[in-house]
Amino acid sequence: VPDSPDAVLDGLDPEQRAVATALHGPVCVLAGAGTGKTRAITHRIAYGVRAGILQPGSVLAVTFTARAAGEMRGRLRQLGAAGVQARTFHSAALRQLQYFWPRVVGGPLPRLVERKAQLVAEAATRGGLRLDRGELRDVTGEIEWAKVTQTVPEDYAAAAARAGRETPRDPAETARLYTTYEQLKRDRGVIDFEDVLLLTVGVLHERPDVADQVRSQYQHFVVDEYQDVSPLQQRLLDLWLGDRDTLCVVGDAGQTIYSFTGATPEYLLGFRGRYPGATVVKLVRDYRSTPQVVHLANGVLAQARGQAAAHRLELVSQRPPGPDPSCTEYADEPAEAEGTARHVRRLIDSGVRPSEIAVLYRVNAQSEVYEQALADAGVPYQLRGAERFFERVEVREAGAALRGAARFGANDTLLDGAVDLPSQVRAVLSTKNWTPQPPAGSGAARDRWESLAALVRLAEDFAAVRPDASLADLVAELDERAAAQHAPTVEGVTLASLHAAKGLEWDAVFLVGLTEGTLPITYAKTEAQIEEERRLLYVGVTRARSHLSLSWALSRSPGGYGGRRPTRFLTGLRGGPGARHAAPGPFGAAGSVTGPDLAGSGRTGRGGADDGVGGAGGGGERVPGARRRGPVRCRVCGRTLSEAGEIKLMRCEDCP
Ligand code: ATP
Ligand code: MG
Repeated sequence: VPDSPDAVLDGLDPEQRAVATALHGPVCVLAGAGTGKTRAITHRIAYGVRAGILQPGSVLAVTFTARAAGEMRGRLRQLGAAGVQARTFHSAALRQLQYFWPRVVGGPLPRLVERKAQLVAEAATRGGLRLDRGELRDVTGEIEWAKVTQTVPEDYAAAAARAGRETPRDPAETARLYTTYEQLKRDRGVIDFEDVLLLTVGVLHERPDVADQVRSQYQHFVVDEYQDVSPLQQRLLDLWLGDRDTLCVVGDAGQTIYSFTGATPEYLLGFRGRYPGATVVKLVRDYRSTPQVVHLANGVLAQARGQAAAHRLELVSQRPPGPDPSCTEYADEPAEAEGTARHVRRLIDSGVRPSEIAVLYRVNAQSEVYEQALADAGVPYQLRGAERFFERVEVREAGAALRGAARFGANDTLLDGAVDLPSQVRAVLSTKNWTPQPPAGSGAARDRWESLAALVRLAEDFAAVRPDASLADLVAELDERAAAQHAPTVEGVTLASLHAAKGLEWDAVFLVGLTEGTLPITYAKTEAQIEEERRLLYVGVTRARSHLSLSWALSRSPGGYGGRRPTRFLTGLRGGPGARHAAPGPFGAAGSVTGPDLAGSGRTGRGGADDGVGGAGGGGERVPGARRRGPVRCRVCGRTLSEAGEIKLMRCEDCP
């Protein structure tokens, strides 16, 4: 813990200091990935609290994911500023709603609906419609979009046309489905994710007494990832603020990746117009990534069009050089997954911690083939969005046991001889048959062990930050994390979608499945949609501290057609075939690896200099050592399957 408020400012550059010390009035930070935006606002809060200018309980910091919120709370504690509320919009709203609901509406808050798409499917059935999976996803997305843009069903068709939305069905039909869906929710007494914000906005708007109470509690607001705020979230923020301007926002228009859900960088870019007196700070030093990674990131963004292009922020790496990013082409997806897993294995064998490695993909359906390959290679992994961690049976049981032990404290013989917090936790978990040694093999027993091991590690981390913490403090921490759905870190390689990876960083990042049709995704058609896909690649590239690997496969399954092409977003980042002797490009010396621009001219792929992973040679040749598997066919109709989800079920999505 820094020994003075000024010591909190150590480790910040002059611009970051300007952010941290501008404690009054509106502040806006516009800066690219890895420039220390999140660090600057975290230190700003800590500095304000330590200097006695901000009361910890009066600050509400809003982050994009529960994990980011948890990380910020942990960091604030390390800086000596515990007690600040760091939450997502959703969890902050949910807490307020739960608190005020009995007084404003009466009774407990309705249950949150878990399977929204299922409810939409029911709405369709009621209307005599049958939607396939893609249509269901699209209609569900449209309803969400309508809600976060505060569009009622009657206005949906006109609003969707204005916003240039590609409506999956006839807009009038989508509007009817929206109406029926809302009706179904009312009938069942449930609310959805968007309702949490809508209801909070409604209560704050209609009940001045409630609004006053919330406003007297929160005096200062800080919003991270402000480029992805939705109109509904902005409305909530405005209601929290009232007529005050005690707001600090940070964002990067180049990382807007949620506009398909109604988020917009307009608020970030319009901040200065709205608050003419705002302190505006730009950061350009990239502290996260090596010059090679930064060079590639700048290259991806250099081709951007539209708004992000106009607000492009060129990054300057502050780190020493590292390995060149590698770019590998594989014959098929299983080969790509196996090649990636081998590469990951080698990194771990060379000393990189599994938790410092991530495999990122465009859609969650891509994860399965990687899960399999990593398991085959004996690599531990975790799926990002282990959001349901606290709902697991073993975690709930362990929580109850810890709570019991915390209550009886020193009188419990169980805790005799367990002098520190982690030992106490181990002692309590031993009553649940947990041992420090993992059980042999995989499966349910191993999963259960991993969950409890994660709790022990959490206790160790917690005790390291707060050496005087008691078991009761740990239980309070667990409750807090459960409320914020902030699962403890599981030691393992992270598998995550590009969307879920936002704001995070790893030493080594593998961006996989970079083909046309996946990135950009098939349903991205308009220029705005394509640009958002490009920004996703930018977000992916900028997650890497030093090791970055990009790859794609020419066909889904072994022996497949092989007609896929690498993503257009990498084209031109290094010269085409004629530019082989040009200056080194982002992938190192020109011609040293297969750039997608070379793919059409012989596909002579091989891995980057440092990885030794053989990419597939031209014409569908296999990666050495790749397992030969025949095509997987649908058990019902015999069609060759390509979707990972379908392959797992051995049934195509059209068959019952
Ligand atoms: P993103 O846009 O991806 O969210 P960001 O701008 O929020 O990125 P941070 O996550 O705050 O960036 O910082 C990126 C990395 O650089 C972190 O590891 C952070 O600790 C480090 N860093 C930031 N500023 C400094 C600094 N002044 N000195 C040393 N390291 C720094
Ligand atoms: Mg950040």
